[in-house]
Formats: sequence, structure tokens, C-alpha cells
Amino acid sequence: MNDPHLVLGVLNGDDIGHEVVPAAVAVATAAAERHGLRIEWRPMPIGRTALDTHGTTLPEGTLETLAKMNGFVLGPIGHREYPKGPGSINPHPIMRKQFNLFANVRPTRSYPDIGCLYDDIDLVIVRENNEGFQPDRNVVAGSGEFRPTNDMTISVRVITRVGSERVARVAFNLARHRRKLLTIVHKNTVFKLGCGMFVEECYGVAKDFPDVTVNEVIVDTMAMRLVRDPQNFDVVVTTNMFGDILTDEAAGLVGGLGMAPGLCIGDGDFAMAQATHGSAPDIAGTGRANPYAMIDSTRMLLDWLGRRRNIPQAIEAAQSMETAITATLGNPTARTGDIRGAGTTATMTAAIIAAVRG
Ligand code: ATP
Repeated sequence: MNDPHLVLGVLNGDDIGHEVVPAAVAVATAAAERHGLRIEWRPMPIGRTALDTHGTTLPEGTLETLAKMNGFVLGPIGHREYPKGPGSINPHPIMRKQFNLFANVRPTRSYPDIGCLYDDIDLVIVRENNEGFQPDRNVVAGSGEFRPTNDMTISVRVITRVGSERVARVAFNLARHRRKLLTIVHKNTVFKLGCGMFVEECYGVAKDFPDVTVNEVIVDTMAMRLVRDPQNFDVVVTTNMFGDILTDEAAGLVGGLGMAPGLCIGDGDFAMAQATHGSAPDIAGTGRANPYAMIDSTRMLLDWLGRRRNIPQAIEAAQSMETAITATLGNPTARTGDIRGAGTTATMTAAIIAAVRG
């Protein structure tokens, strides 16, 4: 039964999060209103603000409350700047784990005149989100990094069959609905067992997608090819750390981190909109933050929830957002300075909202 109604958490995060998250909510609200979608936004404290008010960057009950919603928008987390103490934790790996959001879908797309290195890039990197080399999320207790003696540190990389298989399935599904080309990025020449298992699982999933062409590229070659011929990639699937690095590189091709949106998804109907960029304390409060990444992450959230929950109004709202964003990126007066504009977070957001309203 179609219910044009979504309940979404809003967690600003830190620094520019207080600017770009409200921008994303305002744009999504305008699009929802235009298409008869009701969105109940539920703001919740997180990060430095929550540390000041609740004594912890992830207040008790946050995860339980979010679990009752349809998804949420998470702003960038500036955990490196948190004062040291037991309440200062980095909340987003915990959220990705808690809600089993194992796939981080990060598109890279060229737009005219904003300083992209090529005008015809359209690729998506699907990054495994919950294991790999990231020591703060690849174990259930303790850390995946430890120091047995003062002059030795060991970092553990976790690759599982189930983790590899399920992220590969997300990537193949995406490729099936795009240009039907999937590239597996790995380094099985060195990580014979870890990357070897990841690649094996990807090929296992490939059997269910005979319509998708599969190839593989070693990660160092991929770093070079992203610069030389990014047009030759459609969907890329890779492990956590490789994906972390390659998605920032990909952002550099199309105008920088302000142009890098993302959606964290799993098997269920629940998702988290989270831009690739950090909290950018260097520009916080100056009005220079590009809201594109956060707005487009929120657009991805509406589109994905609309498809998963069969809410056409959410899909239509996402489509209106996309049209409005594209139009606004073509307006140098409205868009921000990082993408060759003379505008601010506020002018860009206002222009997108005006375009959404038609
Ligand atoms: P993290 O490791 O948490 O991802 P980071 O160290 O990569 O963070 P960011 O906070 O992402 O750092 O910032 C890197 C650079 O990109 C900074 O110079 C910052 O100002 C710029 N930047 C990041 N996001 C944006 C944005 N939305 N608009 C404009 N510039 C941005």
C-alpha cells in the first residue's frame, strides 16, 4: 500500500554540517511538498553539540530512536577535533554497523563549467563499508589495530565472504540499471587471500548477472586510470580502504569534495545519506561550504526509499531535486566558490529551492 510519508532523522554533525544539512533538508522539504510527499524530519543531537549538551557525541537512545524511522541524514563528523574523553567517540562507524549499512554508494558526475577535469564522467564507486582495514569498525570489541611493543604496530584487515558477496550484489544490481559494466578493484597480487576472497565472491555474484560485463583492475592502476580515462568506468566495487581513497580521488576530477555525495545502504528499507566530505572546519561559518554533496546525498535517500518502499512521490521528489540541482550548477552567481561560482551556501540552496518550486 502506497503511503506517501517518510520519517527521517536529521543529524547535523559538526562544523559545516550545521550549514549543509539544513540546506539539504530545506531542498528536500520543498521537493516533497511539490509532489505530495509528507516528510517528518526528526532532528537529533550528534557530535560536538551532543558532547556539550549530553556529555557524549552519541547520546544514549539515538540508535534505538533512529531504528524506528525510515532513514536519516547524517552530516559530516569532525571527530578528530573532539576533546579527549570517554564521551568523545566517532559515531558514524557505529551507525553504519548498527544498521548494517554495508554498502557506501558514491557517484561521481561531471557538470559543465564548474571545473571538472573531464566533461563526460558518470561513474559510481560502491565501497564496502563495515570491514576491511578500518580498525574502528572491523572488530566487535577492541580495535583492529594494536601495538604489542613500543616499536611495532599491527593493523588487521578483515575480509569476509558474506561481506564481499553482499556489497558485490549491491554493485551488480546498480550496474544492471546503468550501463551494465562492473569493475572489481583489488590488489590480489599482494593480498592473495584477502583480495583473493573479495574477487572470488564478486565473480560468484556475477553468475546471477549475465547481462553485466565484468572486468577487474588492480588498485594502483585504478588510481592512475581514474585520472586518465574515468569515462571507461560505470560501476566500481571495492573494499573499504581502497574505496575511501578512490572516492576522494574521483571527487577531485569533478570539482572537489563538495561534489561528492553518498548513500549508505544495506539489505533493508533503511538508509543513511552521508556525503563523502569531512566537516571542513577550515571553512565552517564562512558561507563557503558547497551544499551539493549533502543535498544530493539526501536526493539519493529519497530516491532509494521511494523505490524500496514503493512511494512514487519520493522518486518524483528526487527527480525534481536532480533537475533543480543541475540547473543551479549552471548558474555561476548562485554556486559556491569551490566550483567556480560567486555564491554562498545560502545562495546556492535558495536557487535550488526556487528551481524545485518551478
Ligand atoms: P575526513 O577525513 O573526516 O573525511 P578530511 O580531512 O578529508 O575529513 P574535509 O573536512 O573533508 O577533510 O576537508 C578537506 C578539504 O576540502 C578542506 O579544505 C575543506 O574546506 C574542503 N571541503 C570539504 N567539504 C567541502 C564542501 N562541502 N564545500 C567546500 N569545500 C569543502
